[in-house]
Amino acid sequence: MNRRFIPIHSATAPAAAAPRADAASRAAASAALATPDTAPLSPSSALVDRLGRPLRDLRISVTDRCNFRCTYCMPREKFGHDHAFMPHSELLSFEEITRLARQFVALGVRNIRLTGGEPLLRKNVETLVEMLAALRTPDGAAVELTLTTNGSLLARKARALKDAGLNRVTVSLDALDDAVFRAMNDADYPVADVLAGIDAAAAAGLAPVKVNMVVKRGTNDDQIVPMARHFRGSGHTLRFIEFMDVGNTNGWRMDHVLPSAEVIARIDAEFPLAPIGRDDPAAPAENYRYRDGAGEVGVISSVTRAFCGDCTRARLSTDGRVFHCLFASGGHDVRSLIRADADDAQLRDAIAGAWRGRADRYSQLRGEGGARDGKVEMSFIGG
Ligand code: SAM
Ligand code: SF4
Ligand code: SF4
Repeated sequence: MNRRFIPIHSATAPAAAAPRADAASRAAASAALATPDTAPLSPSSALVDRLGRPLRDLRISVTDRCNFRCTYCMPREKFGHDHAFMPHSELLSFEEITRLARQFVALGVRNIRLTGGEPLLRKNVETLVEMLAALRTPDGAAVELTLTTNGSLLARKARALKDAGLNRVTVSLDALDDAVFRAMNDADYPVADVLAGIDAAAAAGLAPVKVNMVVKRGTNDDQIVPMARHFRGSGHTLRFIEFMDVGNTNGWRMDHVLPSAEVIARIDAEFPLAPIGRDDPAAPAENYRYRDGAGEVGVISSVTRAFCGDCTRARLSTDGRVFHCLFASGGHDVRSLIRADADDAQLRDAIAGAWRGRADRYSQLRGEGGARDGKVEMSFIGG
């Protein structure tokens, strides 16, 4: 068994029981926000890693649990009933997450994404959103706060997330065909629940909604054009992700990867497209617009067109380790520091020192024949 998954119990709630933030937890959030170290920190000198990449984005995994068992991420054979998820005491608390996030923001982070596991399973996650929304950059600006979700709980959570200060959501949906989708999530969730979540997010103002579809050749590639047809003209941006060799359990094979170029060719044959590039150089998705004006689609080609050269993302795992790459095999433990009463300057030094030593570029190395095992699971550090 992977050492990272330790015996049971957690702060996560079952899907149906995930409540809105209650008065007590909101009071706790306010108390945390009132502490002196919430003030903006002074600007840092440019922090770059060994390949000259700045620290700009932080993905925070708030739970290692999920109500889906997507075959490419948490296959049921490996994440079955007897799987040991993290105990409550191992999880970073909201106060710990916020304090760490504040240090990252002081060091250059401008975008924070909550992920998991399924982030909406973390009890009172909207309280965490409220705490993170109060963070300010050294220039006094708010950070861009987003969340990636499988969408199954979004219809009931969207309004509370927006009210708490979330800016946008990305929703994962791998098929429009119910049978294909249920087979891929392997937990019998219907497409209708996710579509309702997307609608609720847009209605709540968490827009534009991005919809992520992982494409696995022979499993759901027949859904590419139906998904494009469904979402064009909707105001939501559909993005196709190449099936990746994250973790060690998803049975990845190169012949299951459908290259993004083929995705674009299939859509273009039906709905002509024109390339428009990336939103910014560090963005994973390359975008195309429909020539008839019906919006955009994106492709995330981490296998066939690695984009490590501009990767500015750090990841904070559920148990408080900082990972510098989606495919890393080890992380830097900051939970021990925080629980040993390190002050903010010590936390920043640790985070900055680790970032200066970063040389990760796994996808590029994979392309050069450097694939390897021993990688952290995606559901543990978030996508
Ligand atoms: N549970 C949430 C969800 O599914 O949106 C958030 C966590 S999930 C790990 C984040 C993203 O990673 C999802 O869009 C998911 O489809 C993607 N993902 C997971 N495993 C993947 C794989 N092997 N290859 C490509 N994308 C993957
Ligand atoms: Fe859960 Fe997201 Fe992984 Fe699917 S991709 S198993 S929804 S964490
Ligand atoms: Fe960034 Fe690692 Fe992905 Fe390269 S492989 S883009 S370094 S997360």
